[in-house]
Amino acid sequence: MKKNLKIALINHGCAKNLVDSELMLGMLADEGFKITLNDEDADIVIVNTCSFIHDAEKESVRSILDVVDSGKKLIITGCLPQKHKQELKNAIPEAVAMIGTTDLKEIVSAVKEAAKDEPEYFCKIAKEPVYIYPEDVQRQQITVGSSSYIKIADGCNYKCGYCVIPQLRGPYKSRPIEKIVEEAKALGEKGVSEIVLIAQDTTGYGIDIYKKPSLAKLLKELNKIDSINWIRVMYTYPSMFDDELIDAFASCEKVVKYVDIPLQHSHPEMLKAMKRPVMDYRGFLKKLREKIPEITIRTTFIVGYPGETQEMFDDLYDFVKEARFDKMGAFEFSKEKNTYAYSLENQIPARIKKQRRNKLMKLQQKISKEINESFINKEIPCIIEAVSEDGAVIARGYRDAPEVDGVVYIETDDILVPGDIETVKITGCDEYDLYGVV
Ligand code: SF4
Repeated sequence: MKKNLKIALINHGCAKNLVDSELMLGMLADEGFKITLNDEDADIVIVNTCSFIHDAEKESVRSILDVVDSGKKLIITGCLPQKHKQELKNAIPEAVAMIGTTDLKEIVSAVKEAAKDEPEYFCKIAKEPVYIYPEDVQRQQITVGSSSYIKIADGCNYKCGYCVIPQLRGPYKSRPIEKIVEEAKALGEKGVSEIVLIAQDTTGYGIDIYKKPSLAKLLKELNKIDSINWIRVMYTYPSMFDDELIDAFASCEKVVKYVDIPLQHSHPEMLKAMKRPVMDYRGFLKKLREKIPEITIRTTFIVGYPGETQEMFDDLYDFVKEARFDKMGAFEFSKEKNTYAYSLENQIPARIKKQRRNKLMKLQQKISKEINESFINKEIPCIIEAVSEDGAVIARGYRDAPEVDGVVYIETDDILVPGDIETVKITGCDEYDLYGVV
């Protein structure tokens, strides 16, 4: 087997998939394989795929076909082979290996096989996936910047009607607190300023290993790490956001006052049909805003879920108008095979789904611009993300999560260093981004 072959990885999908990609690269680097960031320069290309919705699948398939066209050896990993093992094998006979979502460690054997002159087809896809985080592996980070993701758990015990993730990733599995703290310390020592905690549902952290939700405890431990400046939590679940967690957000000074809480809808019947918690969202948001001063709230909604009447959509529209979320994303319902919602009657025509999404996003743009305008002439702490050769500086305030929210464009005569936190005076804005001076 030739270890001097170069391996590239193309990542698709969410930050959780990115961490898996980095873990696989770490395993390959440990085995002495050469990693390249340029897939044109590679001999073997791994495509780590996403299968959350149909559009994401199409993007992954496009990458796969590009690799096939290039004639390079192709390994397909992640959600797409987990979901469509046989169809993918039939459609892409050029793939030399396929690996499922929970078989990351098999990447080493897959690459060893692919590196042979006459490789045999290699396939490892668990029928019933259970995600165990490979704690002994050092992630090879694809992008090392001022901020870094840490996966605290994977899998999901919920059964939201539109979602295929629990079938692809298996039951909820948390990592031990001490391993997460160890990883955060190591990242801090490497110069990472902000850690971003991710999982399918971060608020469920610990239920499997500690028998009770333990995110508050984890935050308190991470808050003690000197080398980390900001701790951000993504993907929380409304009914799990209890008083203990609210107190931890309020009292841990390194935990940014930013709550990412996908609510998905406002109408009780829709929430019930989606198999989501039906609760008093208005009361919950009020409590969050009272207990965590200066909080930024991000949410997402799905429009056009089967059975969504005009009245239900109007309820959602009014809720968004009233709640004034700082950040909001709206998605058209996507009918995915093997989900509960797939076979529901009263599917909504594509045209209406699009209209509803556009209407909601237009409303949010207005709210978002008004909220951004309220920051003009205020000073906010921002993390320096990048400084270009001509001195242009891009930063991000605590109100913006990496990759999903906006940025702050800074004018300055000072020399700013990526990763540092600076106080920025805001001088202008548009719907999503801010402009400021140091
Ligand atoms: S909480 Fe719901 S939407 Fe999120 S991964 Fe679990 S089943 Fe899917």
